[in-house]
Amino acid sequence: MSQVTRTAPSPTGRLHLGHAYSAIFAFEAAHSSKSGGGRFLLRIEDIDRQRCRPEFEQGIFEDLRWLGLAWEMPVRRQSEHMAEYEAAVARLRADGLVYPCFCTRAEIAQAASAPHGPPLGPDGPVYPGTCRALSEDERAVKTAAGAVYALRLDMAAAVARTGRLEWHDRAQGCVTAAPELFGDVVIARKDIPTSYHLSVTLDDHVQGITLVTRGEDLFASTHVHRLLQALLGLTTPEYHHHPLVRGPDGERLAKRAHAPTLQSLREAGHSPAEVQRMALDSLG
Ligand code: GLU
Repeated sequence: MSQVTRTAPSPTGRLHLGHAYSAIFAFEAAHSSKSGGGRFLLRIEDIDRQRCRPEFEQGIFEDLRWLGLAWEMPVRRQSEHMAEYEAAVARLRADGLVYPCFCTRAEIAQAASAPHGPPLGPDGPVYPGTCRALSEDERAVKTAAGAVYALRLDMAAAVARTGRLEWHDRAQGCVTAAPELFGDVVIARKDIPTSYHLSVTLDDHVQGITLVTRGEDLFASTHVHRLLQALLGLTTPEYHHHPLVRGPDGERLAKRAHAPTLQSLREAGHSPAEVQRMALDSLG
């Protein structure tokens, strides 16, 4: 079966071998089928306007083109679709599945460090649910005083609404969704009217992605994405979470401050074929 895949880098820096591996993986997944007809798409994940820069977006185009990973147009740039994300958030709100959270990072950290604090989820301590219990009057008072808020998913209510869900991962087979591990995740941030989870889930649907390929660090996120698909009536693609490229010390490249960029490898005289090989070899 021919697949529609995507690579979805954030323009917050120059790409390194880890990004190259991920892009090659998605490109190959689209084009390896003997029947042909696969499609490889590019998405620019730039909801965080503070951290994203136009020159890094240009760098993504330059590096992928240089590697010979031609993508099908148009490029989907998340910052151009905020109204779509807001509409999806509004729908969850109308369904009574999200609530405003006024907590500061410091308040959440303090609650998390209490002796019988909340459990640890895939993204850190689970939110203790402080603002879930606020009355409408209390919310109105805070909002009128100008307090900013994020919107959180009421996880228990959401899971009760959908019942048991599953998704398919190529490496792990049938997976039972366990979004409750995350607790009440943020669906719209204080500074941005969306979140990573909401944007990618909606985008993969809109772009018609049939196989989501991405690093295994995002495996757990798929539990939340599967839940959002069920709540918002979106299609569920197949998933393939691949191992992450690590440096000689075993640390993930994405976390290393000085991982060589594709640009620097190119400037040092390496050919695209050599860099492709380095990316593939770095996984053994
Ligand atoms: N933007 C994410 C990254 O650069 C990828 C998101 C995804 O594939 O779902 O790691």
